[in-house]
Amino acid sequence: MDDAAYYSELGRLRMLGGDAALDFANTRHWRDGREIDFLTGYPALVDWAVVAGLLSEGEGARLREAEGVMPLQAADVFSATVRLRDSWKIHLGEATRALNPTHQPSEALRRMVTTALGPPDLAVSGLPAEALAGADMALPLARAALAIGAFLALPHAGTLRMCEADPCGGVFLDTSRSQKRRWCAMDSCGNRVKAQRHRLRMKAEAVEPPKGNNQG
Ligand SMILES: [Zn+2]
Repeated sequence: MDDAAYYSELGRLRMLGGDAALDFANTRHWRDGREIDFLTGYPALVDWAVVAGLLSEGEGARLREAEGVMPLQAADVFSATVRLRDSWKIHLGEATRALNPTHQPSEALRRMVTTALGPPDLAVSGLPAEALAGADMALPLARAALAIGAFLALPHAGTLRMCEADPCGGVFLDTSRSQKRRWCAMDSCGNRVKAQRHRLRMKAEAVEPPKGNNQG
């Protein structure tokens, strides 16, 4: 597979959701028995958003520069983005568990999306970093909200699913013709599940008492 990936000191995060809104939710997920949050701060958010296609390279560069000048605004935007992501993740968890596919987002999530969509401009292209205002720092948040809004409002190809590997929590759009995609990726979660099953099988065979020797 040749998916776009965000690299940080926490490891590699591939864009496997099939939609930027789902990749946004997947910035926090389980790996090797612990939950990893790839959004570690405003710079990580900007870097991830560029890979996810929510910011252009130019916007990313300007926002990274502007963060040095407006660290407090950046920190506020970052916490609001994490709150939005976490609320969105809860909704996706409920939506993938619900038998009712029209599971509606909560009022709180709707409000967060609407609020985040309100910076003065939805693009800072062409502006040098020193010309950015505090409100422009919210661009990554606004773009993430835009992706969520679009995901909720527009029809999309494929079925929303949650990875069956436990624990993972990754979400993706199953666009396979057979509609049988079960994992984020076969070469990660799929293999992990198979190895786990194999180990359990070996263990079950190992604890089975040898025949004729089970009376004490
Ligand atoms: Zn997975």
